[in-house]
Amino acid sequence: MVRDIARRFVNPLDCRSIRGEDLSQFQFQPCDLPPAAEALRGEVRAFLDEAVAAYPPAGRARSWAGFDADFSRKLGERGWLGMTWPEPWGRSASALERYVVVEELLAAGAPVAAHWIAERQSGPLLLRFGTREQQERILPGIAAGETFFCIGMSEPDSGSDLASIRSRADKTDGGWVANGRKVWTT
Ligand SMILES: Cc1cc2nc3c(=O)[nH]c(=O)nc-3n(C[C@H](O)[C@H](O)[C@H](O)COP(=O)(O)OP(=O)(O)OC[C@H]3O[C@@H](n4cnc5c(N)ncnc54)[C@H](O)[C@@H]3O)c2cc1C
Repeated sequence: MVRDIARRFVNPLDCRSIRGEDLSQFQFQPCDLPPAAEALRGEVRAFLDEAVAAYPPAGRARSWAGFDADFSRKLGERGWLGMTWPEPWGRSASALERYVVVEELLAAGAPVAAHWIAERQSGPLLLRFGTREQQERILPGIAAGETFFCIGMSEPDSGSDLASIRSRADKTDGGWVANGRKVWTT
C-alpha cells in the first residue's frame, strides 16, 4: 500500500486521486527507545522544568522562533548541542538521544532559535564539506552554544533551485563584496 501511494506521488497531479482511506493505512506503532535515550529524557525534563519556567506562555508558544543566547549556552554546557557529531567536535551520541533532547525542547516551548540553524544545518554541512581549518574554527563554538548562524540561500526568484541564485561575491583588495537579494534569513 505504501509503495502504491509513493508511486502515485511521482506525478503531483495524481495526489488529488489519493483517498482518505488510503492514507489511513499508514501506521506508526509506538516503540521503546533504547535505555540510554530514555534515561536522558528525565535529565532534560528536569533541566527544562527550571530553565523554561521563567518564560511566559506566549514566549513558549514561539518555541523555535524564540532567541535566547544564554539558554543555548546552557545546552552547550550540558553537551546537548552537536551531541551526535564525532569526536573531537561532539561525543558520538546516537540520533535517538538527540531526538529525545529535541523532542523535549520543543514540547517545553524552549527558546532554541539562537543555536537552531547552526546546530541542525550549518554544523553538519561543515562536518561533511568544510576544511579542517573551518571545522576547528567554527564547530567548537556551535557545540558550546556560542556561535550562531543564519542561512541566506533563498532569493526572490530562487528557492529550491539553488543553482539559479544570482548573488555574487567578488574578490577585492582585502576581502569580498557580496551583492544580491535574499529572502528568508531565519
Ligand atoms: C519557515 C521557513 C524558514 C526558512 N528559512 C530559510 C532560511 O533561513 N534561509 C534560506 O535561505 N531559506 C529559508 N527558507 C526558504 C526555503 O528554503 C524555501 O522555501 C525553499 O528553498 C523552497 O523555495 P520556494 O519557497 O521558492 O519554492 P519553489 O522552489 O518555488 O517550489 C515550489 C514548489 O515546487 C516544488 N518544486 C520545486 N522544484 C521542483 C522540481 N525540480 N521538481 C518537482 N517539484 C519541484 C517544491 O517542492 C514546492 O512544492 C525558509 C522557508 C520556510 C518555510
